[in-house]
Amino acid sequence: TRPSTGDELESACDAGGAADTRIMVYVRARPLSKKEKEAGSRSCVRIVNKRDVYLTEFALETDYLRLKRVRGRHFAFDASFPDSTSQQEVYNTSTAQLVEGVLQGRNGSVFCYGATGAGKTHTMLGTLQSPGVMVLALKDLFAKIKQRSKDGDHVVRLSYLEVYNETVRDLLSPGRPLVLREDSKQGIVAAGLTQYQAYSADEVIHLLQRGNLNRTTEPTRVNETSSRSHAILQVVAEYKLQQETGVTVRVGKLSLIDLAGSERALATDQRTLRSVEGASINRSLLALSSCINALCEGKKHIPFRNSKLTQLLKDSLGGSCRTAMIANISLSDASFGETQNTLHWADRAKEIRTKSGETNEEMSISETSEDQTKQIAEMQVANQ
Ligand code: ADP
Ligand code: MG
Repeated sequence: TRPSTGDELESACDAGGAADTRIMVYVRARPLSKKEKEAGSRSCVRIVNKRDVYLTEFALETDYLRLKRVRGRHFAFDASFPDSTSQQEVYNTSTAQLVEGVLQGRNGSVFCYGATGAGKTHTMLGTLQSPGVMVLALKDLFAKIKQRSKDGDHVVRLSYLEVYNETVRDLLSPGRPLVLREDSKQGIVAAGLTQYQAYSADEVIHLLQRGNLNRTTEPTRVNETSSRSHAILQVVAEYKLQQETGVTVRVGKLSLIDLAGSERALATDQRTLRSVEGASINRSLLALSSCINALCEGKKHIPFRNSKLTQLLKDSLGGSCRTAMIANISLSDASFGETQNTLHWADRAKEIRTKSGETNEEMSISETSEDQTKQIAEMQVANQ
């Protein structure tokens, strides 16, 4: 598949109606860590022209005791970010357009995929000094709302949740696990999930940092945020426009997802102890890969019901939504296998298509015909 440009995506949407668009796929490499450099790791990834990724496998030539290049593979993505890329640049390329879409009543989602330590949480959440996509998206959203404040009223609601061991938890208000319900109008909902009404980006940054501390950590790895939990931030922007004919409401939803480490659970240390967790993590990620496969093959039935994660991501992958995937990789040759695996999946994900052109706009009630009322009901279902 040829990578498409942002402009093409925009024009597909501007044409109106539900244009099919494949999901945008990006790769981000993180720099070699100090530890990796000290251990003599070398880079097995080369990124050229912000697009092409060359993965090289080295092997030790026993006769000469030197490394020899044995195999190489080339991939191309919508954009590939070398390790020098700033958080802002990643945001601008991958997510800014989706944020604009949310204010126009379109759904969008961005998810980070990759092995533990590849830079998913750095990309999504980041640090206070170097905020990631979640924070930059909210900053941008509030700035855009401020510019448009005289046109109507906006309400922004946030929820932040975790899927860990096939259990869904509210990260903003930790407590008992949440039950997923199929709502006839809203689709899959997590019953009792806190919807936090937000007024500024600054307040949100602290909220997310606090929420992240509530992510389940692994007892075996003290001080390390879990590699086995999936974190999902949902931002709903509702826009009410007063017109002479009545009130127009636009609702757009943005989902930002920091997935659990994609490495095989069996490769971890505490095999027996972790087997239950491992199985469940595998279940969610396996279900995700089955859904991706089924979507790529154009199957009618997509097995979203097979895990909590895929139920929650249903409208991000199969519904009316613009979706971006950021595949995080390490440059280090010590992670060659994981990097190859991640690039393979990213390459595959380029084939997924979603319906991106639909907007969730509700016309003034006084003006609507029966037909339109039906359409609105359908849009509401699509929106959830
Ligand atoms: P993951 O969430 O995929 O397990 P992290 O985001 O926690 O990985 O990243 C692992 C380590 O690498 C962290 O110490 C993080 O600060 C660092 N890191 C990741 N990506 C980058 C980057 N682009 N630039 C600098 N440091 C990074
Ligand atoms: Mg992480």
